[in-house]
Amino acid sequence: MTKTGEMHLKALRDGREVFLKGDLVGDVTSHPAYRNSVATAGFLYDFQAEPENIEALTFVSPDSGERVNRCWQLVESYDELLARRHALERWAECHFGFLGRSPDHVASGLAGMIMGGEFFDKWDTARAGALRDYFRYARDNDLYLSYVIINPQADRSKSAGEQDDPYLTARLVDEDSEGIIVRGAKMLGTSCIMSNEVWVTSIQPLKEGEEPYALSFAIPMNQKGLKILSRKSYEEAAVSEFDNPLSCRFDENDAVLYFDDVKVPWERVFIAGDVAMCTQQFHATPSHVHQNYQCQIRLNVKMRFLLGLAHKIAEANGVVGIPSVRETLGQLAADAALVDSMLNAMEVKGSHWGQYFVPDRHTLYAAQVHTQQLYPRMITALRDLAGGGMIMLPSSAADFANPEIAKYIKRTQGSPLYTPEERVKFFKLAWDAVGSEFASRHVQYEMFYAGASFVTKANSYRTYDWDGAAEILGRMMDSYNLEDSLNKTDET
Ligand SMILES: Cc1cc2nc3c(=O)[nH]c(=O)nc-3n(C[C@H](O)[C@H](O)[C@H](O)COP(=O)(O)OP(=O)(O)OC[C@H]3O[C@@H](n4cnc5c(N)ncnc54)[C@H](O)[C@@H]3O)c2cc1C
Repeated sequence: MTKTGEMHLKALRDGREVFLKGDLVGDVTSHPAYRNSVATAGFLYDFQAEPENIEALTFVSPDSGERVNRCWQLVESYDELLARRHALERWAECHFGFLGRSPDHVASGLAGMIMGGEFFDKWDTARAGALRDYFRYARDNDLYLSYVIINPQADRSKSAGEQDDPYLTARLVDEDSEGIIVRGAKMLGTSCIMSNEVWVTSIQPLKEGEEPYALSFAIPMNQKGLKILSRKSYEEAAVSEFDNPLSCRFDENDAVLYFDDVKVPWERVFIAGDVAMCTQQFHATPSHVHQNYQCQIRLNVKMRFLLGLAHKIAEANGVVGIPSVRETLGQLAADAALVDSMLNAMEVKGSHWGQYFVPDRHTLYAAQVHTQQLYPRMITALRDLAGGGMIMLPSSAADFANPEIAKYIKRTQGSPLYTPEERVKFFKLAWDAVGSEFASRHVQYEMFYAGASFVTKANSYRTYDWDGAAEILGRMMDSYNLEDSLNKTDET
């Protein structure tokens, strides 16, 4: 049976230990800090199971024969890649691009790792088998996976093994015939509060001697000893759905995970104690490309949403006809088109990795470098268009219920486009997208989800066709020389 929202919510009532504001949360599906966002996650599964969507959003698992989301599909051609993209796009449209770690993100990374599975086969058949079995299990249960692959910041001038506390970063404590024991922390578990399981590994380079930190494994969120330390909930802080429509529904949350002597059975351990494997796993397989391609699909949807917002802000304030305002809108449209074009380009320029078809690596990294600069710039442009319009708003929806205040709202919230009620509704949405704490976190997300800018630029540098650039430069250099120039000078 195709996974539904009800099935997902039921699975989340599993005794996971989420901590918020000094307390253990209990049921995340009903807690005011999480329930709406959890319901959004549930909606994604209901959406895929609807008869009119099931063909486009799901495919038949080759093992179970049941339909599961296309994010698990290992595509073998350009056409299959596009069909998968359209499925992911439809999901992203359900949350307007505001769930960064929706269920298709980590699934894409894991699928990419399986596409390059021979890299694991050559290294260790037992661990490669565990990885393949886990992929089949996660796919056939259509699991919502989150991941933590970054070490706590602490002192960034030191690596994981050099920090004052050797157990700051999650590491191996012990192992026996049944599995490994892990202690320490990882950041930053986006959507962990509402995922089924978490994949834990390290994408940051480790040094020789740091073998205890070189781990890769997956565990359910209710695994004994796993502590989920939630950040502040923007959903809980939302005044109402009318006042904070995005915070209210799409606060996927971020959490520090602490592994307090968590036991992981060997069948769920993919790497233990191999620094080189840990460092190479994302790039020696299509994993990194595949998971970040999903990010660009999502961002492309969010761009459309922001462009819609920008134009309506200008219309609502009656400035859309002013040439300089159109210039701003034209720049934003060009920025959105850049994201869309690069997404298309990485697909068109895709190539085969064995039997599988994967998006073009360098185009993806180029898109990441551009978009992590472009997003904050676009948000600033939206702020510039809006002026004080996003601030001169009633304190809450409740003001409309008081006839005395409502009278003044009607007099002060005029717009050439909207009624006063519509204007307040619109600008509250705009503020939640560009200025609220939720919006500010989104700027941080788009700037950092793929690594700090020195990381994305290093990936771009590493994957660019420098030989092709050198070749064309060389042809020009080879087309003249000093001797010929001197001879020509003599002749004249
Ligand atoms: C909202 C949000 C959600 C996230 N979700 C997830 C998630 O789901 N899973 C997950 O695993 N991670 C997640 N992350 C973590 C994300 O991957 C990291 O933030 C990112 O990799 C950067 O690492 P860092 O935050 O430790 O920053 P740092 O590496 O500490 O970098 C911060 C800044 O310090 C400077 N700097 C540090 N080191 C260097 C250097 N070597 N050279 C030059 N400059 C340097 C740069 O100015 C850099 O921008 C999330 C982050 C955010 C903000």
